[in-house]
Amino acid sequence: MDGREALGDAAWFDAHTHIGHNDPDGRSATAEEILGGLDAAGHQRALVFAMHEPDGYRAANDAVIEASGASGGRLVPLARIAPNAEGALAEAQRCMQAGAVGFKLHPRSDAFGLPHPVVEQVVALAHERRAPVLFHAGRGIPHLGEAVVDLARRYHGARLILAHAGISDLGWIADEAAALDNLFFDTAWWNVSDQLQLYTTIPPGRILYASDMPYGPGIFAAFCFLRVARAVGLGQDALRAIAGGQLARVLAGEEPADLGPPPGVHVVGERVIEAERVVTYCAVALQVAFRGQEPAEPIALARLACRTTRDGDVRALLGYVDALLEIAQENGRAHPEIPFAMMPATLLAMVIAGTPQAGIPAAAV
Ligand SMILES: [Zn+2]
Repeated sequence: MDGREALGDAAWFDAHTHIGHNDPDGRSATAEEILGGLDAAGHQRALVFAMHEPDGYRAANDAVIEASGASGGRLVPLARIAPNAEGALAEAQRCMQAGAVGFKLHPRSDAFGLPHPVVEQVVALAHERRAPVLFHAGRGIPHLGEAVVDLARRYHGARLILAHAGISDLGWIADEAAALDNLFFDTAWWNVSDQLQLYTTIPPGRILYASDMPYGPGIFAAFCFLRVARAVGLGQDALRAIAGGQLARVLAGEEPADLGPPPGVHVVGERVIEAERVVTYCAVALQVAFRGQEPAEPIALARLACRTTRDGDVRALLGYVDALLEIAQENGRAHPEIPFAMMPATLLAMVIAGTPQAGIPAAAV
């Protein structure tokens, strides 16, 4: 039901995956697990970088570079740099010598703000090498877009990527993104409303497919990308570039392809208020589950919102979404020990309810 076959021989290149086993959030992943996730989604390559390492990144960067070297070219390493750590710039230089193709910076877990003199030095290094620098731009930080836009202007060779759909700055940054062909956004985020704003307001040539494995399975991220991008009318060339073509160009040191302007928010079209209620309750369920709380009540409310006297497309959509939410409830009952058991089906229900113009997924009919 994910529609990947429709992209033909497109080479998928995931812009955001992690390996590591010391993250205080309790998650861990090996290179084998990331490769397994790529295989499960039918994808070829991924940028990979370290998870949070409270004791420093030198060993973790070495592990990422070594695992990438052993992956037959499928994993491509970014070095994670903590700008407040002693010798941060030297670590960035050392990693590039050792095979890293760019950098990952995480203002929340590595506790720094922008602007920051070492971040500027790292971006200047990326500028010389035409290399990517990926910034966490998701939850848990104040906005950072103004500082990143300023860096993108002054270091035009650097390819700056705002991760997680740039949600920290997505509300205002579209015009800047259109004017800066070295400012990118990765798609690794779960909320369908954020995804709709991303694909309608940011030029398709600035968007890079990403999963955030192990936090987000590639197979879900790919479904979400294709569903939302098609719902807003992006064409085949744009889909193929977002899936991996543009990132491959960036890493080859080529100029990014220009895929034209974004379609604009009007393409979202008339909203289906019944489905919007489902989206709202699913989003609440996911947010409370992410915080380790019980999502059963908002999922039950989402199912109640699927009851309708409408017919035709709206009835079919709500019926399909309700069946997914029933699966979510069954998974929750079957695996009460797994706090996230309800989440995959709830995520799919939210994305489908939020994109009625893309119709009912094919496998259901
Ligand atoms: Zn991440």
